[in-house]
Amino acid sequence: MKYVLIDQDIVPKEKAGIDFDDRGYHFGDGIYEVIRIYNGKPFTINQHLDRLYESAKKLDIPLSTTRETFTELINELIIKNTIETGIVYIQLTRGLQPRNHLYQREISPVLTGFAENLERKEELLTNGVDLWLTKDIRWLRCDIKTINLLGNIMAKREAADHNCHEAIMHRDGTVTEGSSSNLFLIKDSTLYTHPATNLILNGITRQVVIKLAKEAGLHVVEEAFPVDVLAIADEAFITSTTMEVTPVRSITGDVSATLEIGPITRQLQEAFKQLLP
Ligand code: PLP
Repeated sequence: MKYVLIDQDIVPKEKAGIDFDDRGYHFGDGIYEVIRIYNGKPFTINQHLDRLYESAKKLDIPLSTTRETFTELINELIIKNTIETGIVYIQLTRGLQPRNHLYQREISPVLTGFAENLERKEELLTNGVDLWLTKDIRWLRCDIKTINLLGNIMAKREAADHNCHEAIMHRDGTVTEGSSSNLFLIKDSTLYTHPATNLILNGITRQVVIKLAKEAGLHVVEEAFPVDVLAIADEAFITSTTMEVTPVRSITGDVSATLEIGPITRQLQEAFKQLLP
């Protein structure tokens, strides 16, 4: 990471100063996006920018940077850091806001970002991942992509303690999503996933996969399901910008299941791969 984004400029990393008084730094008062780069090109950039604008609106953080400027800045980050396969991270924090003036509008949000190499996780895409199922202890606005992710981080650490790649979570026995991914299960050729409510982040990859599945003539049910269903699933996979469509081979924790990596997961992985630039 040699060059980073600060406000509207791409500067060498050592020249980028972050304001100590930024509320993002103190309170996690901010939002972010992670965009995948394939072949030096950003993937689904418009959908990511849409979600960034939506998150900013939901938290009432002014975001005046236009889509065109974002696209230029993101491309500059990719080129200056010579990224072929990687990610671009964009963050918007509320910035400095005088104490006791929480509702004052004259704030100056801080836009930052970086790009780095990240290879596709071929081994996991082929052989699948082990999931750890645990309680969802997060707040009730998981639809906003905020930098406040402690519930997710605690779940992920718990998963790592049990040698699992990813945590999936449930609220009172109803499955929600992964710590940084969305979960799909397949039963009798139908895909099931939690609906895009306040309890999950509506993943861009989730949306792409739902579209691909429907185009392939598969039935997709966006309904919440209980944890017990995981034990009788034919197949399952998780989706995210960095993990793409990754098969699940086992689930442990609050439920135990051993899963086959089946034909529908492979079909959707292939369809997804066809979209990559
Ligand atoms: N759910 C959560 C909680 C996430 O943090 C993420 C990604 O970071 C996802 C789902 C997947 O979203 P996307 O496909 O947009 O990367």
